[in-house]
Amino acid sequence: MASVSIDQVYKMFGAVEILHGISVNIEDGEFVTLVGPSGCGKSTLLRMIAGLEKVSAGEISIGSRVVNNVAPKERDVAMVFQNYALYPHMTVAENMGFSLMLKRVSKYEIDAGVKRAAEILGLLPLLDRYPRQLSGGQRQRVAMGRAIVRDPQVFLFDEPLSNLDAKLRVQMRAEIKEMHQRLKTTTVYVTHDQIEAMTMADKIVVLRDGIVEQIGRPLDLYDRPANLFVASFIGSPAMNFLKGEISTDGSLAFQGAGGVSMSLPPTPAVRNGDSVMLGIRPEHLRLSSDGFPVTITVVEPTGSEVQMVGRTGGGEEIVANFRERHAFTPGETVHLAAEPGAVHLFERETGSRVEMTGA
Ligand code: ADP
Ligand code: MG
Repeated sequence: MASVSIDQVYKMFGAVEILHGISVNIEDGEFVTLVGPSGCGKSTLLRMIAGLEKVSAGEISIGSRVVNNVAPKERDVAMVFQNYALYPHMTVAENMGFSLMLKRVSKYEIDAGVKRAAEILGLLPLLDRYPRQLSGGQRQRVAMGRAIVRDPQVFLFDEPLSNLDAKLRVQMRAEIKEMHQRLKTTTVYVTHDQIEAMTMADKIVVLRDGIVEQIGRPLDLYDRPANLFVASFIGSPAMNFLKGEISTDGSLAFQGAGGVSMSLPPTPAVRNGDSVMLGIRPEHLRLSSDGFPVTITVVEPTGSEVQMVGRTGGGEEIVANFRERHAFTPGETVHLAAEPGAVHLFERETGSRVEMTGA
């Protein structure tokens, strides 16, 4: 096992700069997810760790060794791809043992390694099958098995679950996590799915357009997003945003369109009239007679909760989640208030988080 250090890394494809100075420290044994919208550079960064793309500037180290000029097969990493990339003419066992065969490891050792990985992944009954005789989930498991057999310093996953149906994705997510808890191999896992990133990671790196927006533990990102982008990207349903201004007339407050008004805890960084965005997560809204009016447009009961979509007096959309079974009807007006201390504040111009000391 090893740490991975990405230090001021840039990537150019021809004249186009795709990654603009990425720095991330991944500790030995850590499970890190790289998450961000499609095209932000996740795969490129992962492929640079694997040695499949050249580093244009900056340094990547695995353990204490700078690997910029080290060939992929000398890096001791194993990559699992979205499309599995299994050899169709080889059995499951042969696919899993192939890398060891290339290294001229003895047949006895190959068999032992394959058996051990197959046990971890529940593949023992399938070892003699060919890839075409497997389901998508089983193929993905074989691809993981092939990585485990190599016993690498680092696992690299590039959206490994994207081809699976929703239920299987949830199951495989748990299996990969369990595998990591057993093997404790340093893992870098790329996904565009923020739920996957949240549920699997020790640490999340949020990327956008080739820059790092925020790095942190899942719940730290959820509770204290550094900017509007992270705030809107992490969490489902997404955080609500209301446009407004700071008012310091009397007590400190947020004033939005259509009569939305909310008192704020002490916030040293703001001044009267500042343009801000107020952020409220759907689960932090509750019914309250002294709240702001919202006209309900859609009601979605899921059984475990009721989700309500509505519009404020200023025409801004707002989503609220309730654990209680309220009997809302579309067209009805309710009054909503945020739970104390649960709101977020961002500068409108820069999108940066504004810290509230009292929160
Ligand atoms: P992600 O994995 O986050 O969806 P990628 O890392 O695949 O994003 O791509 C990031 C950007 O780099 C995209 O704009 C993509 O078009 C571009 N890109 C990726 N590979 C190449 C390449 N070989 N040549 C030119 N541009 C590329
Ligand atoms: Mg990709």
